[in-house]
Amino acid sequence: MAESHAATWAVIGGSGTHGCDFPEAAGSGARILDEGLVFETPAGQSPPFSLFETAGGKRVLHMQLHGWRAGVTRGQASQQVFHVLARAGVKRIISEAGVGSLNHLLDPRDIVIPDDFIDLTTHRDPAPVAGGRLLIMRDPVCPVVAGALLEAARGQAGGRVFGRGTCVVTEGPRFESRAEIRMMQPHGDVIGQSMCPEVWLARDIGAHYAALYIVVNYAEGVVRDWEHEVLKEIFEEDAVRQSRIILQAIDAVDETAGCGCGELSKDTLL
Ligand SMILES: [Zn+2]
Repeated sequence: MAESHAATWAVIGGSGTHGCDFPEAAGSGARILDEGLVFETPAGQSPPFSLFETAGGKRVLHMQLHGWRAGVTRGQASQQVFHVLARAGVKRIISEAGVGSLNHLLDPRDIVIPDDFIDLTTHRDPAPVAGGRLLIMRDPVCPVVAGALLEAARGQAGGRVFGRGTCVVTEGPRFESRAEIRMMQPHGDVIGQSMCPEVWLARDIGAHYAALYIVVNYAEGVVRDWEHEVLKEIFEEDAVRQSRIILQAIDAVDETAGCGCGELSKDTLL
């Protein structure tokens, strides 16, 4: 990878910003440095990345993981992305996505910044990218990056904002059955398809990780049947707000603040 593609931040784009041209659409002063960057990795050719600089001068690699490329599983795509992020020197990652609500108190357009997860994926490569470390998942999300997201989200008009919640991660790309949701509902607040393996691959490559989720529908059997039209509206109308929150959070993070993430990766004993 060329030195000119080095970056200390990454944004893994999902369905929350899919409806707009990230990051320019946010109008937050981010400047594209390069785009259409495709890298060869041990897991195959990466999805296209862009490299941009925030108004505060932070260099950020961005790719859109929403959508499935023919012949590439979601797990393979994550492997490709994290090989690129490791080589670029990325130390902080924000991931965003649209999620379903398991907690019946949540409504569409609420924002959840998760602090824990349950991995129910079934077909994702469990191999680490860097390897050689014992990855402790006691506090999987970086409190400093998550705190900046929470503050930025609270400053934007829109739905309610919650600073904690457990995300149950499923394989996708299909949605879940009513019986599956009944099984999962006691164990989580939201359901999504992206937090794993990202959250632990971030720790594997020595990066801090936090996620910004917007509730786009009720999970099956929760509150009431969700409406496709509302889902589409949220994707289209809330993408700019999500983009602004992410860019504001990146510039607000104090990179010298202690967070404890580094203590949760130890020399492997095996
Ligand atoms: Zn951290």
